[in-house]
Amino acid sequence: MSDATAKKEERRKFQAIKGTRDILPPETELWNRVEQTAREVFAAYGFGEIRIPDFELARLFEHSIGDETDVITKELYSWIDSPRANQALRRVRAKAIANAYRAIHDDQAVREELFKQAEAGALDTLARANRISLRPEATASVCRAYIEHRMQSLPQPVKLYYMGPMFRREQPQKGRYRQFYQIGAEVLGGTDAPGIDAEVIEMLMTFFDKCGLQGATLYINSIGHNADNCRRGYVAKLKAALGRVKDKLGPDSQRRIDSNPLRVLDSKLESEQAVIATLPHIADHLCDECKAHYAEVKRQLQVRGVLYQENWRLVRGLDYYMRTTFEITAPGLGSQNAVCGGGRYDGLVELLGGPPTKGIGFAIGEDRLILSLQESGKGQVPQGRDIYIAWMGEKAHATAIRAAKDLRKAGFSVELPPLEQKLGKALGQADKLGAKYALILGDNEVSEGLWTLKTLSTGEQTKFTASDLLEFLRQQKNVSS
Ligand code: ATP
Ligand code: MG
Repeated sequence: MSDATAKKEERRKFQAIKGTRDILPPETELWNRVEQTAREVFAAYGFGEIRIPDFELARLFEHSIGDETDVITKELYSWIDSPRANQALRRVRAKAIANAYRAIHDDQAVREELFKQAEAGALDTLARANRISLRPEATASVCRAYIEHRMQSLPQPVKLYYMGPMFRREQPQKGRYRQFYQIGAEVLGGTDAPGIDAEVIEMLMTFFDKCGLQGATLYINSIGHNADNCRRGYVAKLKAALGRVKDKLGPDSQRRIDSNPLRVLDSKLESEQAVIATLPHIADHLCDECKAHYAEVKRQLQVRGVLYQENWRLVRGLDYYMRTTFEITAPGLGSQNAVCGGGRYDGLVELLGGPPTKGIGFAIGEDRLILSLQESGKGQVPQGRDIYIAWMGEKAHATAIRAAKDLRKAGFSVELPPLEQKLGKALGQADKLGAKYALILGDNEVSEGLWTLKTLSTGEQTKFTASDLLEFLRQQKNVSS
């Protein structure tokens, strides 16, 4: 390897790890705009922001998301949060390996004794250590916080929104990352009146609309509640129907017939679609209350002017989910086209040790929302400086420094070059940075007290006193905003 290649390799040694990425300017402007839009829209609906930790006890997620989901079994980033326990774990491993070698020579009794000694204290320490996970979603944490801070004693419902990174060890691809970002909201406590479901969905669609997202499609469904005369009855029928077509399904779906038959409806496998189309629909098996709830949600969506499509295959695999479920897809994302998932989860707070509490919420995939905006050409955010100060001469420099400070204080974005440049070069720089104006300050301008402002798009130049200049720029800004 040549020296140069070796150096290049060296430089390349550190890269963002698989499934994570840096988001850079100017793209971060778009992220900020989306987040600001969420803050404004959610505030208009009475939501307050909650900030929750990025990591929690693994048990919280295992308990709420369920031990059988991919998110828990394969995708959770977890570790043992105790240096002593980690040391103990290393000791057990080292002894086990040593024993494995000894096994070639020694008799069983010695081996077992050695292993026991290694384990005794270590396992005890391990058992007492906390396992911690990076959050793969936020609903469990929000519910934990609701319980921990006794929010049930506040006026109900409590309406909270959050935004931030989530972590899942998935196979990275377009729209799927290991660190990704969600913007979500939860309504906890009070009633489960259909008006809440409809309002949450209205808010969501208003947000997407304000972001400029085009072609978003809202899919809704009701999955009833977990009772014999409702979802449980349906699941039994579904299971029976699946049993009859078992040999036409792939191995994953075959397994799910027993473990989680509802999830078979999620299948994206082309070969299974025709079979799935023949399965019974949950809408035909809802109890009267759930049926009425669903009908009222749909009626209120119409009243609110929210367009929707029903999708009987939209389900959730866990018992505490109930009634309204929804998903929103957007164009330009390939197969990862869901930008939001949500639904009602009236049993979750209780499952986590809190009082019986109604709940509904959603999580928007911010990465995918941004991708879709970019693909449709809605991702441009105005950028570039307002003013580039082209200064020449020492006196002019001092004036330029003060002018920059004043203009920035007044809210303009100003570029002040640290070194003197010839006028031509300065104007070239101003152009490259996308500045609207160049403020030309030479020693002459400074002694005259008249500054030259050049509008870079037209080349037009006007002379101003310092205070007139500020006034003029303020007016221009108001016109354009
Ligand atoms: P998918 O079926 O696309 O994996 P999901 O059912 O796992 O989605 P949820 O847990 O409901 O997704 O999360 C809500 C939203 O978060 C999704 O609709 C999606 O936009 C986004 N999302 C989920 N996982 C990822 C990921 N790994 N990378 C980027 N966005 C994600
Ligand atoms: Mg997923």
